[in-house]
Amino acid sequence: MKQATIKKVEQYNPTTKAFFLESSEPINFTGGNWILVHSNIPKEDGNVYKRSYSICSSDRNQHEFMLIIKLVNPDHVSGYMHSLKKGDTIQFSGPHGKTFRWFEDDPVGKYLFVATHTGITAILGVLNSKHFVTKVNFFDFFWILPEDDEEYFIPDEKFDELLENIPPEDFEYTIFPEGSSFLFENSNILNLYDGIFIAGKKDIINEFEKRINKDKVILRTEYFF
Ligand SMILES: Cc1cc2nc3c(=O)[nH]c(=O)nc-3n(C[C@H](O)[C@H](O)[C@H](O)COP(=O)(O)OP(=O)(O)OC[C@H]3O[C@@H](n4cnc5c(N)ncnc54)[C@H](O)[C@@H]3O)c2cc1C
Repeated sequence: MKQATIKKVEQYNPTTKAFFLESSEPINFTGGNWILVHSNIPKEDGNVYKRSYSICSSDRNQHEFMLIIKLVNPDHVSGYMHSLKKGDTIQFSGPHGKTFRWFEDDPVGKYLFVATHTGITAILGVLNSKHFVTKVNFFDFFWILPEDDEEYFIPDEKFDELLENIPPEDFEYTIFPEGSSFLFENSNILNLYDGIFIAGKKDIINEFEKRINKDKVILRTEYFF
């Protein structure tokens, strides 16, 4: 079991907190990886409830790292995380995630990043990764979000400080409401990229997967829920 201390907690909106953590041992993660946080909520089998959280910050720093967590269930692990304060510690295992990451032989080229819901944390980990600058010469970024929820997760003005490899003037993203069929009706655009990273809601990711020509386009997926 590993341990990290909370150095700072920033509340982004009523249901979103960013946790700045420090670990004395190097985490040995690569951008896109996640850790398994062990809560203090007991299970009947004597264990505790555990949940996965993607590391948003850059893999250049293996001691200080960042998680951004949405309060989904106040009585469960996201509620436990939201109850923690500066100076508290978390127990975790990992890092985990064998495929949602850059690999040495990935081509240099044009990439699409698609986040659905909280899946944007895993995308941030990939964008902040040290490999990003060696692989990406053009990118698009789509974020699929529930309709009518302006405070769903990370506020727009936070991206400037969350992105390490991309200057604010070069960073643009397009929000699509969850029910929008635009991307699926125009799915030919998906096959114009060298690679696509998609993270978040499983049923939406599956709709993308059906439309991507995996013989031509590298596809990396991470299911959150
Ligand atoms: C690989 C991986 C990485 C993840 N990274 C993050 C992260 O960086 N930040 C983060 O906030 N969450 C992340 N999650 C989701 C997280 O692990 C938990 O599922 C979430 O915090 C809810 O846990 P809980 O114990 O509080 O609630 P539970 O009681 O376990 O969940 C209640 C219900 O909410 C669903 N649910 C989970 N997440 C969402 C969501 N975003 N929107 C709507 N429903 C949801 C669950 O499937 C479940 O049905 C990740 C999940 C995975 C698998």
